Amino acid sequence: MAAPPPLRVVHTVCSHDCPDSCAVLVAVNEEGRAVKVEGDPSQPVTQGFLCGKVAKYLDRVYAPDRVLYPMRRKSGVAKAPLKRGHEHEAFERVSWDEALDAIAARLQEISDRYGPESILPYSYAGTIGVLGYGSMDRRFFHRLGASQLDRTICAEAGGQAWNLVYGKKLGTPTEDFRLAKLILAWGANIHGNNIHLWPFVEEARRNGARLVVIDPYRTRTAAVADWHIAIRPGTDVALALGMMHVILNEGLEDRAYIAEMTHGFEALAERAREYAPARVAAWTGMTPGEIEQLAREYATTRPAALRLNYGVQRAENGGAAVRAIAMLPALTGAWKTRGGGGQLSTSGAFAWDKQALERPDLALASPIGRLARVVNMSALGQALTELGTKGPGTKGLEAAPDGPAVHALFVYNSNPGAVAPNHNAVRRGLERNDLFTVVHEQFFTDTTDYADFVLPATTFLEHTDVQGAYGHYFVQLSQQAIAPRGEARSNVWLFGQLAQRMGFSGACFRDTPEEMIRQALAIGADGHSTNAGMEHITMEELERAGHVPLKFHAAPEAQPFLPYTAGPLATPSSKIEFYSDALAAVGLDPLPGFVPPVESRWSEAAKNYPLELLARKNDNYMNSTFANLPGHRKMEARTSQRLEMHPEDAKARGVGEGDMVRVFNDRGAIELTAMLNAHLPAGVVAARLDWAKLNSGGVNVNALTSERLTDIGGGATFYSTLVEVRKAGNRD
Ligand code: SF4
Repeated sequence: MAAPPPLRVVHTVCSHDCPDSCAVLVAVNEEGRAVKVEGDPSQPVTQGFLCGKVAKYLDRVYAPDRVLYPMRRKSGVAKAPLKRGHEHEAFERVSWDEALDAIAARLQEISDRYGPESILPYSYAGTIGVLGYGSMDRRFFHRLGASQLDRTICAEAGGQAWNLVYGKKLGTPTEDFRLAKLILAWGANIHGNNIHLWPFVEEARRNGARLVVIDPYRTRTAAVADWHIAIRPGTDVALALGMMHVILNEGLEDRAYIAEMTHGFEALAERAREYAPARVAAWTGMTPGEIEQLAREYATTRPAALRLNYGVQRAENGGAAVRAIAMLPALTGAWKTRGGGGQLSTSGAFAWDKQALERPDLALASPIGRLARVVNMSALGQALTELGTKGPGTKGLEAAPDGPAVHALFVYNSNPGAVAPNHNAVRRGLERNDLFTVVHEQFFTDTTDYADFVLPATTFLEHTDVQGAYGHYFVQLSQQAIAPRGEARSNVWLFGQLAQRMGFSGACFRDTPEEMIRQALAIGADGHSTNAGMEHITMEELERAGHVPLKFHAAPEAQPFLPYTAGPLATPSSKIEFYSDALAAVGLDPLPGFVPPVESRWSEAAKNYPLELLARKNDNYMNSTFANLPGHRKMEARTSQRLEMHPEDAKARGVGEGDMVRVFNDRGAIELTAMLNAHLPAGVVAARLDWAKLNSGGVNVNALTSERLTDIGGGATFYSTLVEVRKAGNRD
């Protein structure tokens, strides 16, 4: 019998919003169908395996319910939640030409009538490929004069806070965690959503390291830690300052490192004196002895590696929390030892040429002749229901002090109908009949229910891109492995086409993905990148290898990378900043300090809503991505539509295991099934994010979350949410 024809293997990169940015090898058969995906064994962080989400990726690519053609809402169909599985009945198939012409004409009409800032793009990290995340779309919206979106929903508070301390987001190389003797995972569910760090954690533990997890929720990672500290939500900053108090009291700080590398030590020391363990214990729920033990263990173990993740900063005081935690390795000099230090994100190491990619200069050619106003994505409900209503009129640019109302919403790489806080306000906005909404998507979602047009989007197997990471130091090329299914198209194609339909004549709107990758890399005349740290990279090498380390990480054994051990740093003082003159200049506290969240057990609002809600994420979804796939839902079935409650809180409300409960506050309510969990701190309840339409009642936990913003960076505060719980049927 003849051997089957060999499969073609293509190097791609998982573009989902995950620090690991895995190198994915896709095997494609003779018919052009992908038949296998696997992690690239030659990529030092991917190490040949994929997470449970993406190991089944072909289920997603070839899902029978993929959106494959452009669709227009049928006349007379109301914008409202559509029954799952029947969404297509609300739409009619149209050609790309019809869709693009109609969308371009409508955007033009809205721009002429209300001003271009009445058009709001809404996107986030549905793909983190450099082109897919932000390139042709930015060019298009800048040239159009559309409102700019402040992309704050996930990482901005923490990112800005880290940068206030260090100037740039760098961190301990992921591979070096294997050398640590203490790993402090702070708000980091490594096993759940940073799985490629886990083999290095395991190696470190085999060599005697301890794993300490600080997290209000007993995650997979916390469950297997040597010590799980379940602190109360929003108290991380107090704990970090309490640790500093102990470290300084006992003389465990690294004075030589502090003198050489930091700014503002005396002021920080004075602040830390206020955070005696007894005081911190009252806020965090720990004992004073536990705080002392943690501080001593952290300060006296070498190497000590901190893995801080973005959960910490989704509280009202999240910016201060990240600043305080980020200062710990600077106080103890942990950065000096290979395998020590810390990592929030490595993204600051990738110096893509964003000016060339995004072309903000095109705004000068827009009808407003300047960069447009900025709208914060974490307050989408307000943007859709309140913007433009504060002045005497709402129709003109001059009429309202905050600019025009939003009349067109263009959604891609995101599902705000599920993930944006204050779901009911968002929904009120999306239901507006005078709002023109376009959604570029792979599936029908909570957002497409409100769309005038739904456009089919490609997966990372179906387009070409280049990618960095926020959890390692490799530049990777993601080559197109298969033809797009149906008529799915990439972001680059979509916005290039729309630009041409709107008469934007610049050559940049006709760039191919390959040309744009060269622009992102700033390839010079000699064929090498001219970006800092990428000077050794050529297109040919990327195409050959698929992944190339940044220059400083090219020979880690001979030349280990020790971030923040030599100056000058990219901060105003050129040093690590314990004290921020920049914050002081704008009237903010220049030092980290614990301010109890407005929505926390210490606040006035707790009289009515005494329980702190963790609106938490899933291990097997990526925010709302993957939530529609049966295999992925099965993996999350145990806590699906459950409200996890401490037994004491349940007993006080007459709630037992398996009872239906109503979880509510002033913003909304959701009905869930009670599930008792003694690992939660008393006074804290937890429920997972899901698609609203997949929950009974058609709402998700974001019906409860608020649009209040973080102290730094204007981020979303998903983990500062107060609620009350009653047995279903017992209404107040
Ligand atoms: S989601 Fe993360 S861990 Fe999973 S394949 Fe993608 S990059 Fe890797």
